Amino acid sequence: MTESDLGSDLGSDLGSDGAAVTAIAAQGVLTIDLGAIAANWRQLRDRARPAECAAVVKADAYGLGAARVVPALAAAGCQTFFVATFDEGVLARGALSRGAAADRAAEPVIYVLNGAPAGAEAEFARWRLRPVLNSLAEIDAWAAASRAAGHPLPAALHLDTGMSRLGLDAGEQRRLAAFPERVAAIGLTLLISHLACADEPDHPMNGEQRRRFTAAAAMLPACRRSFANSSGVFLGPAYHLQLVRPGAALYGIAPTAGAPNPMAGVVALHGRVLQVREIDTPRTVGYGASHRVDGPTRIATVSVGYADGFLRSLSNRGCGFIGGHTVPLVGRVSMDLTTFDVSAVPPERLTAGAAMELIGPNRPVDAVAEAAGTIGYEVLTSLGRRYHRVYRGEMKAVPC
Ligand SMILES: *Cc1c(COP(=O)(O)O)cnc(C)c1O
Repeated sequence: MTESDLGSDLGSDLGSDGAAVTAIAAQGVLTIDLGAIAANWRQLRDRARPAECAAVVKADAYGLGAARVVPALAAAGCQTFFVATFDEGVLARGALSRGAAADRAAEPVIYVLNGAPAGAEAEFARWRLRPVLNSLAEIDAWAAASRAAGHPLPAALHLDTGMSRLGLDAGEQRRLAAFPERVAAIGLTLLISHLACADEPDHPMNGEQRRRFTAAAAMLPACRRSFANSSGVFLGPAYHLQLVRPGAALYGIAPTAGAPNPMAGVVALHGRVLQVREIDTPRTVGYGASHRVDGPTRIATVSVGYADGFLRSLSNRGCGFIGGHTVPLVGRVSMDLTTFDVSAVPPERLTAGAAMELIGPNRPVDAVAEAAGTIGYEVLTSLGRRYHRVYRGEMKAVPC
């Protein structure tokens, strides 16, 4: 989408007058392409075959709205979802249950990566959420919950092979292998581990972690295994095992550092030009007077700021795209406003209300992240709540 068709696109998406007014009054418009998310999932599924392709939808589907993204992925064929917390799991279960048949045997599986807090086990079971157990204590608590339920409750087990973040460490792995009855009391459905350097294909950590995972899993009861995040899918079949867990690549973030991005773009963010001013005498722009103009300059003030998750670290480093030109962000990003030097853009393309592309085909999320000194993950999960959100490319349920 270009900035010139933003207006007509909005008009066609918004049927009622009330919604149209909201769109016009909105200071920024965030467009999320559910069709591109589904296409990215299918691409990853095809790459990982015969392994199953799950979807990681933690942090509100990386900021894009789990209530819309989860059903779109399920419609594309995704059967297994990963969230970080219990609340996210409940939201995902609700989104999946809406309009679905009540066949619980066939319903999608939801894993909660951060595990089950002590005392929450029964609630997990009630919402049919499977914790990813991260310690021997969590295994024992889940075994007790299983006994109380009268049958083994399904759960995954996380083996730490190099992240030093979550999961059983090497000592706990050995202790568990010595007392396998400890896992026999739970319904173990999946062993997972997580790669630290998967976006760097030549990093020695990848092979090292794979050896550790294989050795640790061999000491435990036979079970499906899952290793690869988005970047791990691109490390090749040796990393796919039985199930892959992509998140970022679904949402258009490049999986491999320094390589072309094979994923479809998902997010477009447009701010509105509120004012354009001509400066003809030397002046400074914005807080801290951090940018100085010396010659004739045209400055556009755009209606998005750091309170919208347009990161302040983009000050004097980011760019926008308008009227066919990439324009530099000048001065500091304010709470609700950002200024751009639009001297190169013909004035007739800069009317008040014109849309400035801040993320989109001309400003990919990874480029925005690089300018901000961060990663695409943080740019997406920071996206604010003030935007008017437009979802497109939704698969319509076919009545049968
Ligand atoms: C977040 C996460 C993923 C997904 O990672 P991406 O890099 O976004 O694909 C997979 N597994 C675990 C354990 C995670 O925490």
